[in-house]
Amino acid sequence: MVPFATFNLTVIKTMSQGTLYIVSAPSGAGKSSLIAALLKDNPRYDMKVSVSHTTRASRPGEENGVHYHFVSVEDFKALIEQKAFLEYAEVFGNFYGTSRLWIEEMLSKGVDIFLDIDWQGAQQIREKMPNAKSIFILPPSREELERRLNARGQDSDEVIAKRMEEARSEISHHNEYDYVIVNDDFDVALMDIKAILRAERMKLDKQYSRHHDMIDRLLD
Ligand code: 5GP
Repeated sequence: MVPFATFNLTVIKTMSQGTLYIVSAPSGAGKSSLIAALLKDNPRYDMKVSVSHTTRASRPGEENGVHYHFVSVEDFKALIEQKAFLEYAEVFGNFYGTSRLWIEEMLSKGVDIFLDIDWQGAQQIREKMPNAKSIFILPPSREELERRLNARGQDSDEVIAKRMEEARSEISHHNEYDYVIVNDDFDVALMDIKAILRAERMKLDKQYSRHHDMIDRLLD
């Protein structure tokens, strides 16, 4: 007879999918910098950031295919028709969408994927992929958020006032997420996000797909 524990581990052995991480935050909370630092500091792990499609115009310094796939509204609508998106949403008057095929392919190869998306996209992903983990990044205060938006030197006072309003709406959804990180000190916030990833990697199914031979031998 196959012992119960062995049977369970055999089932888990087949589950070596990557983890999908949803990361949301108001503009200026440091989300993109945190994800970039995370990827840079973890060259040993298979992790990638999903590049979304958007209908917004590119900003100076942004590269097509690197920061976003920049497309027309017409092309975006055709992609919706083709069911090319795992989720899509209208954010601040522009469309944004996450490529379904690429995500599915990467996850099946065991690559961890980061989605830098808003709360609407996060809700859609949770519905479709209940195993996804979601992280919300909060700024320490409204004053600090406004200071950071000003320090970027990218936007007019009017645009900053608009972003502060949008921030309130995004932040109101923080309680829908699995994890909340306060980005007051960048290095601490980076340690926090690393701690989440590390803990997720120690989950039984992940460890078993990595170490099943060793565990089998321990049970011999
Ligand atoms: P930005 O235009 O400043 O790069 O992004 C504006 C907002 O759109 C951010 O909150 C960002 O997370 C969100 N966003 C970027 N890509 C996607 C996407 O593919 N889907 C959804 N739902 N939101 C996205």
